[in-house]
Amino acid sequence: MVARVAGVFDEKLTEAIANSKILVVGAGGIGCEILKNLVLTGFPNIEIIDLDTIDVSNLNRQFLFHKEHVGKSKAQVAKDSALSFNPNVNIVAHHDSVISNDYGVSYFKQFQIVMNALDNRVARNHVNRMCLAANVPLIETGTAGYAGQVELIKKGLTQCYECQPKAPQKTYPGCTIRNTPSEPIHCIVWAKHLFNQLFGEEDPDQDVSPDTADPEAAGEAGASALSSEGTTSGNVERKSTRTWAAETNYDPEKLFTKLFGDDIRYLLSMENLWKKRRPPTPLTWNNLPGKDNPQEQHTGLPDQRIWSLYECAQVFNASCTALQKDLKSRPEGDHLVWDKDEKSAMDFVTACANIRAHIFNIPIKSRFEIKSMAGNIIPAIATANAIVAGLAVLRAQAVLRGDIASCTSVYLRPKVNHRGQLFVPEKTLTPPNPKCYVCAPKPEVGLACNLKQLTLKDLTTAFKEGLNMQAPDATVEGKGLVVLSSEPGETDHNNDKTLEEIGLNDGCALLVDDFLQNYEVRVRLQQEDEEKLWRLVTDTDTPMPEPKPANGSNGSDPKPGPSTSRDNDSDSDLEIIDEDDDEPAVKPPKRRRTEMNSDEVVELC
Ligand SMILES: [Zn+2]
Repeated sequence: MVARVAGVFDEKLTEAIANSKILVVGAGGIGCEILKNLVLTGFPNIEIIDLDTIDVSNLNRQFLFHKEHVGKSKAQVAKDSALSFNPNVNIVAHHDSVISNDYGVSYFKQFQIVMNALDNRVARNHVNRMCLAANVPLIETGTAGYAGQVELIKKGLTQCYECQPKAPQKTYPGCTIRNTPSEPIHCIVWAKHLFNQLFGEEDPDQDVSPDTADPEAAGEAGASALSSEGTTSGNVERKSTRTWAAETNYDPEKLFTKLFGDDIRYLLSMENLWKKRRPPTPLTWNNLPGKDNPQEQHTGLPDQRIWSLYECAQVFNASCTALQKDLKSRPEGDHLVWDKDEKSAMDFVTACANIRAHIFNIPIKSRFEIKSMAGNIIPAIATANAIVAGLAVLRAQAVLRGDIASCTSVYLRPKVNHRGQLFVPEKTLTPPNPKCYVCAPKPEVGLACNLKQLTLKDLTTAFKEGLNMQAPDATVEGKGLVVLSSEPGETDHNNDKTLEEIGLNDGCALLVDDFLQNYEVRVRLQQEDEEKLWRLVTDTDTPMPEPKPANGSNGSDPKPGPSTSRDNDSDSDLEIIDEDDDEPAVKPPKRRRTEMNSDEVVELC
């Protein structure tokens, strides 16, 4: 292999490679490429860890896997395939979650470098902390479509994965979804909710009928809308959409008339909503645009053709019938699960989203575009993965050479920038954020909450979701009093008590630690009467991103992924990059990291 060919690398690097031991976390799109590069370069000792098994959809780019491997462990098959290139490498494969007690700080300490090839924030945060605790350089990689990045994280020298606050996931207020959509995504979210209301698991937070509690509709108009309830067919929203649909035997025409006619007229009666907006236009089943027009010529893929409204209604009709049949064939109480790859489910969402978009004067999208938006799919691109993995292994070589200063972050851009660059490196290493609540010498963070309302259980959630801990323990600073214990049963009896009831007050500081992560942070409690739940505050000027609503009803955590977390996610193809909203790949050092989007979250207004 390359490292053994005299003259390719200088002696120092050849020796460093020969004595190295590398951990690769994740054996997906980037992980396969990294493993191949390491093996071909001549790295002699490699461990690879991945919780996931191989899916058919991985095969187009995760080239260490073939058809016969579907269902098998990614880590194990990656190892076996890589050994076929170079049987002299010692590879240890772990089919496991990296977030496990089995992989503590001492485990991480045995490696010269850890290389992250992950697809979710939870695992990235965790490996970040393990590497900080073990003081092992971490090479963090990510791609999203044609964009990508590689960065070195080295304790004390560079910023860590958590130095910059990350933007929360995109949320859409419930009233926007139900009453005043203005973008295609609003209609797509609505259509997915409608699918669940009719055929899937009914969720009260996914109501699709007009929202009479919309604060914007208040006033006389709102009142008149409310008073008209019961006299028009607008009253159906008082009945569950499922019940109503079942009573009509899922008659597509009746469903259409209610959803795209009556409900829209009901919305129109909430006049306040339309004072500054273009009002929606209700539709009637028998009078849809496009009926008499022949199909427009289209040269692209069938899924890329934009349907006329008449065609949307036809697809609505057919998919409704198919889905109802599917639902009926299941045992009582069973329901369908929305899947972008299931034809009728995707047809239904495309048709409904487009019909609703038309009503609200929002541009209509092709089935292809809607599928990508509804499934949160950013296509995983084999070349981007390969490029990023190549850069990552070059950075690993530089680290082994002791040339850390050259290991600045590199961004792969989807298009060349104005300087003609496709790869854009930072000029210097980005230093740690002294206020980082993870890698600062004495990590500290504020937690704004209403102590009279926040329970111990909520506090645990705040530590887990806000501070990304796995098993937090908390004591009161100066008193040593244990408030929260990760040992089952020790503090559970207090779970429903408020922080005030436990004796915590404004200004009180907690020492919170996670044994597994070898991480301790001082958390200052700040009483805020208005606070609905909790909010992290790094200092008075820079509030941290809002947490997700804590009722747990709205989807999940920042993109739980298959590689290391135990959650099962259908978007196992998605690799995540930190990036800016509009300009994916490249930003000046002050960039804010945001996760590539994820499931929509709907807040009730
Ligand atoms: Zn940090």
